[in-house]
Order: sequence, then C-alpha cells, then structure tokens
Amino acid sequence: MDRYYWGVDLGGTKIECAVIERSTDKCVVRERIATESDQGYAHILNQIKLLIDRCVEQLGQRPIAIGFGTPGTLDPYYGVMKNCNSTALNGKPLDKDLSQLLDAQVVLANDANCFALAEAHFGAAKRVKPNAEVVFGIIMGTGVGSGIVVNGKGLYGCHGIAGEWGHNVIEPNGALCYCGQSGCLETVISGKGLERFYFEQSGVELSLPEIVARTADDEHAQATMARMSHYFGIAAAQIINVLDPDVIVIGGGVGNIDALYQHAQQAILPHLFNGELNTQIVKPDLGDSAGVFGAAALVK
Ligand SMILES: [Zn+2]
Repeated sequence: MDRYYWGVDLGGTKIECAVIERSTDKCVVRERIATESDQGYAHILNQIKLLIDRCVEQLGQRPIAIGFGTPGTLDPYYGVMKNCNSTALNGKPLDKDLSQLLDAQVVLANDANCFALAEAHFGAAKRVKPNAEVVFGIIMGTGVGSGIVVNGKGLYGCHGIAGEWGHNVIEPNGALCYCGQSGCLETVISGKGLERFYFEQSGVELSLPEIVARTADDEHAQATMARMSHYFGIAAAQIINVLDPDVIVIGGGVGNIDALYQHAQQAILPHLFNGELNTQIVKPDLGDSAGVFGAAALVK
C-alpha cells in the first residue's frame, strides 16, 4: 500500500494539493497554484499536472491514487462533469482525463462531499464522535450543499446527487431556484435567501453578518433569524428521520451563526420521529482546509 495518500481541491480560483502520510494522518506536503479557469479545460488540466509534479519533486514519490474535490459532480451514468460553476469542466470526462494525464487512479467528489469527509476523518465529527456511523456535513453559505459519510465513506447515489438537501422543496410557492424549482431549501436558508427575506421585510439591503449583528433590537432581523431556525428545524428533522446521523457539521456563513445551534433542538424536535434528539450539531474545525483534506480522504 502507498505510504501516502493524496488530495487535490480543484477550486474556481486556486488548485490545492495535500499529501498525507498514511501511518500518522499528518500532512507532509501542501502546495497551491492558480486555476486560471477562464483559459479553458486543457489549461486547467495542465495546471493540475504542474502542481502534482511540484509535489512529486518534494516528496520523491509519485501518487498511485489521488482524490479530487471538484465544484460539480461526475455524473455516474454519463461519466462526465455536471453542475460545475467552473463551466469549462461541464460535459468533460474529468476523471478519465486526469487519470491518463497523471498516470494514477483518480476519485472525484464534489466540494460538499469533501467537506463532510474532511470533518468526519479529521475535524469536528471525529472530535465529538470518533466512531460515528453517519456524518451529515452541510455547507450553508451562498447556497446550501451537503454530503453524507457512512462508516468513513462518502455516499453518492444512483445519480451522484446524494446530499442535495438544498434542493428539497420546503416552501412550494417560494422563490425560484436556479435549478428550476420554486422554494428549494437553498432559496430559504442560504445566506442569499436570508438576505432577500430581510430586504423584503425591511426594504433595507444588508449582508447576513450585518443582519445577525442587529438581532438585539431590529424586529426584521429577529424575524429573519426565526425563519432560519424554523425552516432549518423542519429540513434537519427530515434528514434525521431518513439518515439518523450521529453528527451534523455546518460550515459556511450561515453555519457560523450561534443562534442556529442555540435553537436547533427546539426547532427540530417538533418534526422528529423521536422524543429526544441526540444528534450532535456542531461547527466545523477545518475551515478552508476541509476541501483538500476531504479530497485526500477519498483515497485514504
Ligand atoms: Zn433548487
């Protein structure tokens, strides 16, 4: 078995690589390079190769397998990328191309799945429940994405959409989502969704941190926070009724709001098929490093 495992976080502006020693789970090499995604698909592949070559030079060893965190999903049916905001990747057989280019086995997962894997293997979930059977990781920021980890492995599903909790419809007559539906959870409890609600109530355009800072004496800010907790409670209960996770880790700007955790129990319990709630709901530990460590966990 390879002494190291490798992860690459393929972001819109930068690509980051981490090489982790298998026996210690310690990161021994970490490098980054600009994505320059506006220069097209071939250029992105070239940047990845440059980055890997640089790491190989430092380590004195080539990878056998590399996990990649990507902005979209590899469609398991068609074998090509979809839903990438770096649109040069869409429609491309990224795993095959990378595998050929780097002469290594390649495993891909989207950023929310990598977040969940990272927090399960190295972060908050590992800390609060080291032997968790199920970890549900949420990135609740501009949008709402999530990933499911079962016994240390990501769960991706028949269409590669497992964890697309953010596109469950929660308010059928609600705002139009970019996915084509109306009232997706993402339109309600994402940072953007909460900012829009505050604006509709108050006529004032504020950022989410500004809204949170006003909750002591602004009724519209209070209503926005109440809406967040209410819909998070319903949606989280739906997840717990189906997957019953040991730990839910919430990253992103909305995941940073203390009130979300303070009110989680009372928001979830009325909708839960159980009289008590023992799922631990926690903030993440890893910050920006989650992407690259989660990618590495794909081939751990
Ligand atoms: Zn949607």
